Amino acid sequence: MKELQMHIKSKEKSYPIFINNDELSNLKSKIIDACNNKNYIVVFSQKVYKLYSKVLDFPKNKIFVLKDGEKEKNYKNYIKILNFALSQKLKREDSIIAIGGGVVGDITGFVASTYMRGINFIQVPTTLLAMTDSSVGGKVAINSNFGKNLIGAFYQPKAVFINTNFLKTLDSKQYKSGLGEILKYGFIEKSCNSDSEENLLNFLYENHEKILKKEDYIMQNLISSCVKLKIAVVQQDEKESGLRKILNYGHTYGHAVEKLTKFNKYTHGECVVEGIKFAVKLATNLNLIAKDYQFLCNDLIEKYDYKDLKKFPPEKYIPVMTTDKKATNNFIKFILPTKYGTVEEYDFTTEELSEIVKS
Ligand code: NAD
Repeated sequence: MKELQMHIKSKEKSYPIFINNDELSNLKSKIIDACNNKNYIVVFSQKVYKLYSKVLDFPKNKIFVLKDGEKEKNYKNYIKILNFALSQKLKREDSIIAIGGGVVGDITGFVASTYMRGINFIQVPTTLLAMTDSSVGGKVAINSNFGKNLIGAFYQPKAVFINTNFLKTLDSKQYKSGLGEILKYGFIEKSCNSDSEENLLNFLYENHEKILKKEDYIMQNLISSCVKLKIAVVQQDEKESGLRKILNYGHTYGHAVEKLTKFNKYTHGECVVEGIKFAVKLATNLNLIAKDYQFLCNDLIEKYDYKDLKKFPPEKYIPVMTTDKKATNNFIKFILPTKYGTVEEYDFTTEELSEIVKS
């Protein structure tokens, strides 16, 4: 059992992140304690509801079930969940609980951030991606027809309950999606300025077989290492004005591939890994990293058995990159590796990028 703390200085607020593999039948009472035994509603993803509603045993009248899929993170469902909270007469001191992957966490968090100007929000992530990334750090959002996550807020949860038993039913595609973000943490570890002296890249190298087999003890350690890195980054830069941008490593090209394949061919994590390979190649072309480090990066990615995704020519992906919400004044932003476990931000014009990818 591990308990980590996120401390947000500007708000003088801390919240606990519990990581364990306790009996799931005990989880409800811990969550209700975290709600100070006040009123609450629970938003479940449909699949998670089918698999776990019996063991978690929340009263049916307090449950809202959200259909699965990225497209459900939309305005209509946001309003439906708000209306459900209103119909349950939730007050400011009450809580909204999200149980599911990043989709459920993001939309439910956005509801919590706007319901009566902000109500307690509790995250119970059930995918590997949500456990290591989306449930911690306070980014909440819904999608619009104009793009992903364009309507949202920074709204920190009151508590996060990570229970690795949920991973047992996660299919391998979703599991590897989470591993994509975990590899990212390995490659940015030294830039996170974390106090914890772990060598995540080494851990990922040495334990790849156990990690691919979801060995529980290893997974708790791995999740805890990633969450510690995320805590370190968010504590230094909650609103992504500086350091937090490094969490976008692999995302510039990764997002372009997601958009070009209409968000339904590959998972987010697969695209992030493809984006990491792209960033490593770019850094090699620019002589930012030595060849040895390029081999090490690609070798680690191969150990996790990621296949190459569909290739696109620069004429296709560069225009998509310029529409990314992180691009500014015609500059495309990249987080690139500069040494072992270290990354930095670089800006390129479309013309510069076209030249670099040719070399
Ligand atoms: P997801 O929420 O769509 O879940 C993937 C699928 O797995 C769903 O069908 C879900 O029902 C199912 N599932 C969940 N838990 C399961 C379990 N224990 N067993 C079996 N099936 C299970 O996908 P995701 O990868 O968790 O999240 C992706 C979302 O997260 C995207 O919307 C992305 O924008 C967002 N995200 C947010 C942040 C952030 O900081 N807020 C960070 C990264 C990603």
